[in-house]
Amino acid sequence: MSYLTQYPGVGPKTAACVAMFTLGRDDIFPVDTHIYRVGKRLGWVPTTRTREQAQEDLESLIPNPLHYPMHLLMIRHGREVCSAQVPRCEACKLADLGCPSAKSNQTAGHSSQRRTVHDGSGDAMINPKRLDQKKDIQDETEHKET
Ligand code: SF4
Repeated sequence: MSYLTQYPGVGPKTAACVAMFTLGRDDIFPVDTHIYRVGKRLGWVPTTRTREQAQEDLESLIPNPLHYPMHLLMIRHGREVCSAQVPRCEACKLADLGCPSAKSNQTAGHSSQRRTVHDGSGDAMINPKRLDQKKDIQDETEHKET
């Protein structure tokens, strides 16, 4: 990794992507802005952690054989459902599975109201170590609407 980051314009995320996609390293988990946000909302990454620290957290939390598919799924989930400004919790299956940041549907007439984003200090109800099949991941990230 340090070999790659010595080149101008190559940061930790780019180096990690090269390691995963080009070199086939399954011990690496690149963290982009979508993965960083989704990881924090799911309680997998404490909000005080930097993106580089989040990479360490997710590398140890998610089993190596799942790094590649989880990387792709978390980016897609962040783009299509768990967006930065207005996450579509009402269309997200992870809300039913205990996402600690799922916005509340309890306040009638205020469907856009969100709960306070989970600070990662408690136990995340969705445990990636229990997801040992690709199908499980796809099922858990599948949303109700497209
Ligand atoms: S329930 Fe909401 S906050 Fe949680 S992962 Fe889904 S869209 Fe994101």
